[in-house]
Amino acid sequence: MSRYLLSLDQGTTSSRAILFDKQGNIVTSAQQEFDQHFPHSGWVEHAPEDIWQSTLHCAKAVLDQAAATAQDIISIGITNQRETTLIWDRATGEPVYPAIVWQDRRTADLCRQWQCHADEITAKTGLLLDPYFSASKICWILDNVDGCRQRAEQGELIFGTVDTWLIWNLTAGQNHVTDATNASRTMLFNIHEQCWDAELLNYFNIPPSLLPQVQDSASEFGQTDPEILGGAIGIGGVAGDQQAALIGQGCFQEGMVKSTYGTGCFVVLNTGSKALMSSHRLLTTVGYRINGEVTYALEGSIFMAGATIQWIRDGLQLIGDAKDSQLLAEQTGYDNPVYMVPAFAGLGAPYWDADARGAIFGLSRDTGIKEIVTAGLQAVCYQTRDLLEAMAGDGVDAGELRVDGGMVVNDWLVQFLADVLGITITRPKITETTALGAAYLAGLQAGVFDSLEEVAELWQEDRQFRPELPLERRQSLYAGWQEAIGRLCSR
Ligand code: ADP
Repeated sequence: MSRYLLSLDQGTTSSRAILFDKQGNIVTSAQQEFDQHFPHSGWVEHAPEDIWQSTLHCAKAVLDQAAATAQDIISIGITNQRETTLIWDRATGEPVYPAIVWQDRRTADLCRQWQCHADEITAKTGLLLDPYFSASKICWILDNVDGCRQRAEQGELIFGTVDTWLIWNLTAGQNHVTDATNASRTMLFNIHEQCWDAELLNYFNIPPSLLPQVQDSASEFGQTDPEILGGAIGIGGVAGDQQAALIGQGCFQEGMVKSTYGTGCFVVLNTGSKALMSSHRLLTTVGYRINGEVTYALEGSIFMAGATIQWIRDGLQLIGDAKDSQLLAEQTGYDNPVYMVPAFAGLGAPYWDADARGAIFGLSRDTGIKEIVTAGLQAVCYQTRDLLEAMAGDGVDAGELRVDGGMVVNDWLVQFLADVLGITITRPKITETTALGAAYLAGLQAGVFDSLEEVAELWQEDRQFRPELPLERRQSLYAGWQEAIGRLCSR
């Protein structure tokens, strides 16, 4: 009898596979990094074959490690780096160009040309007009790779985000499909009508024949070709990484919010059946679509979270290991006069200031390493508060925050977060929430779980962090951050 759910987690720097049992416990996992290509300043590419082969390698590795065969797998769930854009030949499967990664800024000028449609784009897609999303990357490939526009117009080429590319390969070219969460990050998908938007396709001059069929996040995405994993396995769940984390954190009620602290930080708030349009420059997106019902989410991102600690470690060489930051912060305490604004690559939501650059304020003769390191950790928490304030400004107060990602092993950081936000923070037992979310979707489709309520019951808490700081101190710490931001942005 089949025992496992196989989750394929295709990230920006590495691919992973995790086998889960029917209770959502990790049985075994494998990970493989792959090369990043930077052909010009601001360009970021991946080899499509690396994306596929590294994923396949990890899938085979976890089956080997568990001495499992295809028959042991109930269903496959896929979660992936979002927005990254691939175009390939419908007949041969041959990519026409490398994958253009979400971080790639080459289409900034093209997006400026579309400025006259900016409001309409936001109204239809919930996104802000930006090179980050897939639409301008598709156009760039059609217009800059020899013969591509003509081949696309003749219906010879197809587009996909990474989920679509993986499913295409897993099914040996049988299925050209995506899910609603991934579609909602392309800047071509009308999130209210749940369809590719004919007007936007027309403005951007993108042939509709390029686009995959959009399905519910838990649905039949195809069967793996038997040659690939030694037997046919159904692919039953697909979601973009941040949406998968929302699901893996069991945030199924309106008002529930999760925040993932990895290289960057992504805060995603469940807004239920309402597509709440932000007046604070947050993104409105599809949280998940199950049984044809859309659950929407508001999303805010911070570019530098764990990456700030990496910079303190590798750039400044103030610490030998990221975990040393905790001890130093314990020595410094909360009342740190130093504020660091890690705007190394501009500021994300809610400021969206691409030209801002980082700064450290409040230095004095007695400032030492520990104050600077602590300021790096505190900055992540202050920025999270900026996002929750923006969400509150849009009318939704988060009652509790569920956190995950590599940084949340740092207890000091999570307690400071609780104190700065003034809300309870919960850390789950399984912090691999992205992979877990994809497994939950696959399990829902396969009937392992009957409902989201049943999935929510599986979610397990590791520890809660409650706010302990008096309101006045909380506000004065945050006021110091706002002053630092004000100084930076007014320069
Ligand atoms: P990603 O998935 O984006 O690669 P991870 O979720 O693996 O990132 O998290 C790694 C990040 O967490 C690194 O940027 C690292 O600096 C940071 N990090 C790891 N351990 C700690 C710690 N104990 N305290 C603070 N930051 C940490």
